Amino acid sequence: MKELAYCHKCGTELESRKHEERERYYCPECSEIRYRNSVPVAGVFVVRGDEVLLIKRGNEPHKNEWSYPAGYLEFDEKPEEGAVRELKEETSLTADQKELELVTTIHLEHPDKYVVGNAYTVSFDQTEGEIKAGSDAKDAEFLTVEEMRSKVSQIESPKIIEAAEEAIRTVNRQG
Ligand SMILES: [Zn+2]
Repeated sequence: MKELAYCHKCGTELESRKHEERERYYCPECSEIRYRNSVPVAGVFVVRGDEVLLIKRGNEPHKNEWSYPAGYLEFDEKPEEGAVRELKEETSLTADQKELELVTTIHLEHPDKYVVGNAYTVSFDQTEGEIKAGSDAKDAEFLTVEEMRSKVSQIESPKIIEAAEEAIRTVNRQG
């Protein structure tokens, strides 16, 4: 994991200081702890029968690996709003926020931070539009869990496969 080096307010080199039970970054100039938090992400597994729609990532990290359509939340955005926005940007499909069901959270390590994915699901029947990869996705395809397992090294994380399985169960339970 990349270390934080400088204070984002004043540019002073950060020190380490024990505070609230763990070592944290501390700016001696501002006399403030510089907290480092995980970053929220939201996305949607679109389920069609026993398949989920995955996108091929066009940018680092994990460029060229398959993941679920997802992205960082804007400052004032609710997770379900961000999830449908990212779905639209990356696959061209539109979905109603009210049709989304929360499946799980996906905690992933990136080179400089941890991201916490709010993973929703929706049935493909409930979406509108033609699938077309866009934004930072270079491809979009439906895959079964077996297909995902057979190319696990090309999937961003095994956690994506576990979540996809749970999404498929969730949508098929709804009938
Ligand atoms: Zn500072």
